[in-house]
Amino acid sequence: MVYLKSIEANGFKSFANKVDVSFDSGLTAVVGPNGSGKSNITDAIRWVLGEQSAKTIRGVKMEDVIFSGTDSRKPMNSASVKLMLDNAARGLAVDSDEVSITRKLYRNGDSEYFINDERVRLKEITELFLDSGLGRNAYNIISQGEVDTLLKARPDERRVLIEEVAGVMKYKIRRKESEKR
Ligand code: ATP
Ligand code: MG
Repeated sequence: MVYLKSIEANGFKSFANKVDVSFDSGLTAVVGPNGSGKSNITDAIRWVLGEQSAKTIRGVKMEDVIFSGTDSRKPMNSASVKLMLDNAARGLAVDSDEVSITRKLYRNGDSEYFINDERVRLKEITELFLDSGLGRNAYNIISQGEVDTLLKARPDERRVLIEEVAGVMKYKIRRKESEKR
């Protein structure tokens, strides 16, 4: 199974200094006082997986993810996050034991994505995670209120979730794309 080994963040939200958080394959709990940056860690994971909605990661505009400065520190000009995933079991279609995913955003709006430090388009990241259960729209991050939404969903809405889990979403999206051509 693919699992998250570490997150490196630099200039992302409250992480002005470069931080490197490592995880084991088991269960990890993040604890800390209010406002210390726990939720910013899950925001960082969503963001690097290609989240395009600033609202989902608790911002108004995407630029809000860049460290905005404090009384004693200047704002930064870019934010970057790198996820290191264990791929020994080849759960992702990349032939390496580790897969890194990086996203970088500059204040001028330029955005960059990388897989194993090679520049890619967002589409390639989305495709890599499609049906892996790990993508930005997968249910790997369950936020407050989402359990309720699922329970209250209409059958057709719930079906979309089951299709993602079952791994047929990739084919549906490809069919739609080929129909457009
Ligand atoms: P709680 O226990 O209340 O849920 P938390 O540990 O989840 O708290 P977060 O929401 O992750 O805390 O962190 C919020 C902090 O991040 C706030 O202090 C906020 O000012 C800071 N923050 C968010 N965006 C930025 C930014 N762009 N630049 C600097 N600081 C930021
Ligand atoms: Mg929180």
